[in-house]
Amino acid sequence: MTIEQLKSAYEVAYQKSATDIFFSPGRVNLIGEHTDYNGGFVFPCALSFGTYLLMAPNNEQKINFRSLNIDAVYSLELTQLTTPLPNKAWANYPLGVIAQFIKRGVSITQGYDILFWGNVPAGAGLSSSAAMEVVTAFAFNELLGTGYDRTELAKIGQASEHEFAGVMCGIMDQFASAQGKKDHAIYLNCDTLAFDLVPVKLEGIKVVISNTHSPHHLDSGAYNDRVRQCQLAVQQISAVRPIKNLAELLQADFEQVEHAITDEVAHRRARHVVGEVQRTKDAVEALQQGNIELFGKLMTQSHISLRDDYEVTGPELDALAEAAWKVEGVLGSRMTGGGFGGCTVSLVRDEAIPTFLEQVGAEYTEKTGLKADFYIAEIGDGAHRVNA
Ligand code: ADP
Ligand code: MG
Repeated sequence: MTIEQLKSAYEVAYQKSATDIFFSPGRVNLIGEHTDYNGGFVFPCALSFGTYLLMAPNNEQKINFRSLNIDAVYSLELTQLTTPLPNKAWANYPLGVIAQFIKRGVSITQGYDILFWGNVPAGAGLSSSAAMEVVTAFAFNELLGTGYDRTELAKIGQASEHEFAGVMCGIMDQFASAQGKKDHAIYLNCDTLAFDLVPVKLEGIKVVISNTHSPHHLDSGAYNDRVRQCQLAVQQISAVRPIKNLAELLQADFEQVEHAITDEVAHRRARHVVGEVQRTKDAVEALQQGNIELFGKLMTQSHISLRDDYEVTGPELDALAEAAWKVEGVLGSRMTGGGFGGCTVSLVRDEAIPTFLEQVGAEYTEKTGLKADFYIAEIGDGAHRVNA
């Protein structure tokens, strides 16, 4: 949909024009999976697709929420902005963000009519939820003049996801949506939130996202289980060497203390995290040195660890990754995002792309009975105002 079409859709929904339009992107994580809530490194980039928010003030003392993607409409009094809606209502994502402003002492004294539209496939691991949270945080920050920086907007989005969606996610998705930069990936230390924007200039290579369209998805239960298993590993390791986060341990440190993890599942989860943090550091170094082959190999190793130790891949993501690995000209391929369903990300040489689409698509359908979708990723900017 074009901006003009969105403006018309707003007029149809609210019988007036939008006064302000904002956008915030989805993201694809190149490497560093399930490391964010363990204080480790991640390496995501913002996509050129994401979520648009159009809004205008009203005279109703209410915030009205509509989405062109979902029919349900929500209308909330200004006195009702701090309580989550029941039944997994989609409006909890923006509502939870507004609640965070209120929690920080900001008063909302004016009603608004808000319309969202997103072109990130929802539930596909490209973080449509973070795009929606961050676009809301960015919009209210601008309109209320609260002056929060982008990192704070990311934290507001994350807190919304924790408190209103019940997913105990790390900071990666919201951070990427808030801080992304065109043609750059974000090398983020999730413990300190220090980050570098690393240019991603891949000569003759594309970042290809493949969507499983799997009915399985990472629910809050499976996600929160992983968070708890990592906490258990931290607790057990701390009996022999006090640590705050798994990511503090280098591979060699881990080998000295891993015997302390008596829970077999927690042990494997911890092994993934420690290995993945190292792979992420190595991958960023490889990219900076122009060694894209090594970057690709580390991506593939990341998938294997997520499959065997972290157990968040499942048959569909495995089928896509395994099919990709067989194609000549694929440098690496891995699941991206939380896992189970969702997408893989692959580095594919330009000349191999037609074969990739055909072969991976066919093998995936043969193995799973499902049809995959493919997108060539364009790395875009983080949250911004759209000139109306
Ligand atoms: P992901 O973040 O990987 O896309 P999630 O399950 O975390 O998947 O978030 C998807 C949910 O976010 C949707 O089910 C819906 O509730 C909400 N959402 C995202 N984008 C929109 C949108 N444009 N309109 C309405 N709800 C949306
Ligand atoms: Mg999400």
